[in-house]
Amino acid sequence: MKLVTLKPRLGTIGTSRVQTLQSVRPGIVERKRGSAGVKERESIKRRDCGVCQSCGRLGRVVDHIVPLWAGGSDDESNKQLLCDSCHDAKTKREATQRAGGGQKSTAFLLGHRAPSHADKKSHISN
Ligand SMILES: [Zn+2]
Repeated sequence: MKLVTLKPRLGTIGTSRVQTLQSVRPGIVERKRGSAGVKERESIKRRDCGVCQSCGRLGRVVDHIVPLWAGGSDDESNKQLLCDSCHDAKTKREATQRAGGGQKSTAFLLGHRAPSHADKKSHISN
């Protein structure tokens, strides 16, 4: 059959030259692109009242609280509105962290939005 002779050729093309995010960093979520992303940015701006969640000035940038490269999710709960200067500062901080070994030390990024254990306990008591 002629089809059989085609198979080895297809095999050589493979995906080895096309490095997807999944193959480079398994488990890392790719950020949303296109219209879905725009819609979500708008909803986060509304949620955060158009205000920078760090300094309270006018927010313009939707930021990943825990960056995707550090294992953060692409969910709205992992996003916040920041102004340009706070976003720049955070990006620089993260670049330093990433260069210095990444995933182990992302706790500093979680900030005030991290769910506290105290909250959970108050539900259980009584
Ligand atoms: Zn700010």
